[in-house]
Amino acid sequence: MSAFHVYPVADLVEHDVENGENCVCGPTPRPVKRDDGSIGWVITHHSLDGRELTE
Ligand SMILES: [Zn+2]
Repeated sequence: MSAFHVYPVADLVEHDVENGENCVCGPTPRPVKRDDGSIGWVITHHSLDGRELTE
């Protein structure tokens, strides 16, 4: 199953987008419905400098 990674650019650390769930930032996987009705995964990475505290 393919996954799409969303991660902050120019973050303090390098995000592991190959093995997203093992990334140091503790990313959050979210299921999303694609246009064709199938379910895909969006891996949301978290910035480590506090930019995403509102999420
Ligand atoms: Zn990450």
